[in-house]
This record gives sequence, C-alpha cells and structure tokens, in this order.
Amino acid sequence: MSLRRFLAVALVACSPLAAEIRSLTILHTNDVHAHLMPNDNHLGGFAYLASAIRHERANCTDCILLNAGDLVQGTPVSTIYHGLPVYEIANLFGYDAATLGNHEFDYGWQRIQDFVKTAKFSVVSANVVNDQGAFLAGKPYVIKPVGGIRVAVIGVLLGDLAGNLATPEKVGPWHVLPVVETVRKCAAELRDKSDLIVVLGHLHDAEADAILQQVPDVSVAIVGHAHRAYAKLHTFDGRIGALVTSYGVELGRLDLQVDMTAHKLKSAEWKIIPVDSNKLTPDPRVARDVAHWEAKVSKLVDVPIGEAKRRLEKKDLQALVERAMREQTGSDFAWVNLGNIRDVVPVGRVLARAIWNILPFDNAVVIGKFKGSQLPLKVREGHAIDPDREYSLATTDFTAANQSTPENLRTTGLKFPHDAGLLRDVLLDWFRKKKVIE
Ligand SMILES: [Zn+2]
Repeated sequence: MSLRRFLAVALVACSPLAAEIRSLTILHTNDVHAHLMPNDNHLGGFAYLASAIRHERANCTDCILLNAGDLVQGTPVSTIYHGLPVYEIANLFGYDAATLGNHEFDYGWQRIQDFVKTAKFSVVSANVVNDQGAFLAGKPYVIKPVGGIRVAVIGVLLGDLAGNLATPEKVGPWHVLPVVETVRKCAAELRDKSDLIVVLGHLHDAEADAILQQVPDVSVAIVGHAHRAYAKLHTFDGRIGALVTSYGVELGRLDLQVDMTAHKLKSAEWKIIPVDSNKLTPDPRVARDVAHWEAKVSKLVDVPIGEAKRRLEKKDLQALVERAMREQTGSDFAWVNLGNIRDVVPVGRVLARAIWNILPFDNAVVIGKFKGSQLPLKVREGHAIDPDREYSLATTDFTAANQSTPENLRTTGLKFPHDAGLLRDVLLDWFRKKKVIE
C-alpha cells in the first residue's frame, strides 16, 4: 500500500463518522387465537388481516412481520383440528418470524413440533428447552437481513408457563428458563452478529418491561399475552415495547430509525391499524382457505341453541358457566377461572359456535367432595357454610391441576376424582335446556 493510500484509509477510519441511519418497519400481531372470521363488531378475520398486512407492506420499503404467540386456540376450526389449519392459513400472511404462546401448548407439546414443521416462517423460542439443552421450537433466535440491517429476533415465553398456564402433561419434558437471564445470554451472543436486537415475547407485561430495563442490548420488544393493546409504547431509555389487541382486530406498525453504528434506535413511531372488515377488501386467497375450513365445522357449530336477551360479557358468562356446572352436575358449588372464558355473547340468537368460542379448550368438568372447612376461600365467600358438612365442588381439570395459583383456587392437594365430561358440552346442554337467557 502506498503511503498516500494508507493515509487516506487512516483518515477515514479516524474521522468522526456521521452515524449511519437506516429505516426499518416492524409490522406485528399477537394473540390472533384462530379467529378466522371477523367478530361481531366486524373487526378482524384472517382475510381482512391479510389485506391490512398487504396494504402496510406496500407502504414501506424495509419491512418485517412478526407474531408474538398464541396464533391458535379460540375457535372451532382450531379446537377440532388441533391448530394446524391455522398455521397453514397464517403462512399466507408472510410472517418473517413468530414465537410460541402458552396456548400453542393446548394440544400438547408434540403438536408444537407439527406447527414448527408447517410454518413457512421461523419459529423462535429461547427459553423452552429439555434436559439435553434442545429447543422445543428448534431455535432460540434468528437473524433476518432487512434493508442492510441485520435484525436479530429472539423468541421468549412466560416464565410461569409450567404450573400456572399449562398442565404438566402438555408441557412434557420441556422446562421454561428464566426470561430476563435467557434474553441476556442470547443478546450477548448476538451483539456482534446483528445491528438491532428485537425480543419477540409472549410475556406478562412486567416481564417485557424487565427485559427492556435490564438488557440494554435489546432495542425493541414485540409483546403478546395481555390481549389488551398498550395505550402507548413502553419506553425505557430509548428502548421500546409494543403490544396490540388480541383476535386479529389490530395490526401494529413500528417505523424505526436505526443507528447502525451504535446499534440503537434513533427514533420510533408506533401506529395501531384497526382491521375493519367493513372497510378492507378481503384477501381472496386467504378468504378461500378460511371458507374451506369453516365449511368443515359449520354443520356442527352453526346450529341455533337459544337466545340471549342481553349482551353477555365475560363476567356474566363466568357466573352462567358456574351455574350450568352446578345445575348439570348437581354440585353444591362450582368455580371457573375467568381466564377460561374467551369470548362474549352478542344479544340475539345464540349459535353453538358462540359456546365453542367462549370455551375453546377441551377442559373437563371434575368434581370433588370436601368438608365445609376444606372448601377454598374463593368458593366459600358469601355463603353460610357448615364446617363439618360435606359439599360437592365442580371445577375444571385445568384448575384442579393448577389449583394453588392466585388465578385459580389457592389451595393444595384437593382431589377431584369424578369426571363429568367436557365443560363445553355441559354449557351447550344447559343452554339448549334454558333456551332463553334473560
Ligand atoms: Zn392469548
């Protein structure tokens, strides 16, 4: 190298370079929950979500589409066909990466391996591993080159999955590693191989915030699980978290300016795009696949079973489900977790489909007999109980298996030996008998 050439190179290397800034758009969904068709407010539906995605993609140069878990479970097609058609249709959205939610476990961990095989996008999950250190989703993270930016996407799942959000047989030999620690380890591996680190997390809001606060290498957290959109971006020292409403009624759009030298965000703008089926033209290819799968279940679920004189919110339905459990099984008490109630019932004719949407899980009703003094506090509350009398209590097998948690009964060791069949069938039979809900 000549001296002149050497000087030129040295000067370039030493001069204070203006930071190189590149643009990146992240489109994101979470908790779509197999809602193939629009809800009663005409929001959502896979064909309309696909159309919204296509529209946003047409308006960005460098774009990546992510899903933060719980693609499946919520409607009859998912329940009856154990989620796989939902992954098949979602392939048409053009996701770049997705992570696992707790409800991906609902059909057992083996089914997750079918989802991963079916997905034409990367499925990443860093903290679900077995004793040999293998990852349930196959890989912890992926690096996607977009517009000259190496975008690292780390998948991560709720730290309390086992013992709170899934039963032991669904989780099988897999353990969930601590969220923040796992992300910190992955981020350290990715620091020199990427320009921007994104966490794709199906998490409690507090876990997502903790990542942004405690792992400064992570610039963006795309979050799922809460089902309720953040009112605004969660921001920690220039690092950001975003989450949209469940059931595919919203698409998130983050427009970012990335400082390629510092590997940090220079700016971020967030927009929530409503998926309005009254305004969007459905994507024809997705609409065809949705119609194909819905036709398979229609005979079973599009059957009138009664009438609701008023709109039934989740809280109303919780009380109705408990009443149905008591009346159908002759139990003294019944208790169901509000998290089990997944949808509302609009006023008017009620189809069996509504009951499937309220109770998509194949949970069984189980019954135990207990002394008044042994009854869980949550059940006893507001009732005159004889501590020595024996009472029967009905709940779900899910609650029985996770009874100690605050979301469930806060009890230990209660046995529920009698199985009274699927909770959904109990409610369907009860509705058919009642016909009209005042
Ligand atoms: Zn969810």
